[in-house]
Amino acid sequence: MVMFIRVGLLLHTMNNDSLVDLIESETNYLRARSKRSKRVLEAMRKVDRGAFLPDVPVECFFFEPNIVKKLRDQLLSGSTTNSKESTEEQLVNLATGAVKLLINARTLTVSLRALAYNNIPLPIGYEQTCSQPSMVAFMCDELELQPGMKVLEVGTGCGYHAAIASELVSPGGKVVSIEIIPELHKFAKENLIAYFGEREFHNRFKLICGDGSMGAPEEGPFDRIYLTAGVEQDRFKPEVLAEQLSYEGGMLLFPEAEGKLILQCYSSGKKVEEREFTGVRFVALKGENT
Ligand code: SAH
Repeated sequence: MVMFIRVGLLLHTMNNDSLVDLIESETNYLRARSKRSKRVLEAMRKVDRGAFLPDVPVECFFFEPNIVKKLRDQLLSGSTTNSKESTEEQLVNLATGAVKLLINARTLTVSLRALAYNNIPLPIGYEQTCSQPSMVAFMCDELELQPGMKVLEVGTGCGYHAAIASELVSPGGKVVSIEIIPELHKFAKENLIAYFGEREFHNRFKLICGDGSMGAPEEGPFDRIYLTAGVEQDRFKPEVLAEQLSYEGGMLLFPEAEGKLILQCYSSGKKVEEREFTGVRFVALKGENT
């Protein structure tokens, strides 16, 4: 598989810890709860995102860090070096600087893995993406994943989100994850085995290849169910999945392909709360219940 994309920033200082630091410092994600919990951040520190991405060549821009810093400082201070310049001149200078930066940027061919520590969704092939880390963190937090829980994930992708969910439900928990694209199902399995080891993989996960839009009733009941691909609000029937939650209580979290992320809380088989977070975009859910 060869991919050529023009995304991302490649800085030598980037690693998984710097990515998690960035998420920790975010004060306003989806205009909701401003801080990520300690447990979620810890889980994200354990799971190295780079290890879950395909090792394929991508073409990306490389910006000289010093020039980026100079432009950034100018933007933040609201002025260019010459304080006698009018606002208009300052804007022209800033714009010229930005254009020069783009023109002079070198393009480099690197492994997609080198872009892993950017807080952006990244391609994993087959027109699918590894979600934005901030989104993974947000979803894990909203679901209040706790040790011992049994979780259903629809959309395994590369296995990154599943690995973090698994850290949060361990010890004693289980992540059942369904992926509709056989190649990605296989890729996620390899990634998770490489990451956790064969034995721990079998303790922690059950990966299924197939359509998960109707859930996995034979594997339930679940404490939590979440989708990593977006539904069409007027067609998708959440009750099909909600029925697979434990009777005492559970949560169902699903995004629209473009629009809202919806969290539903159930107790004694009834929906007792619903919350929405606006401004999300996900790859489209396929299958029977989209
Ligand atoms: N959590 C993933 C994100 C993957 S993107 C990660 O961390 O990488 C969403 C995934 O959902 C894609 O891999 C896509 O193939 C899968 N998907 C879409 N519709 C599906 C369905 N009906 N059942 C199972 N998987 C589905």
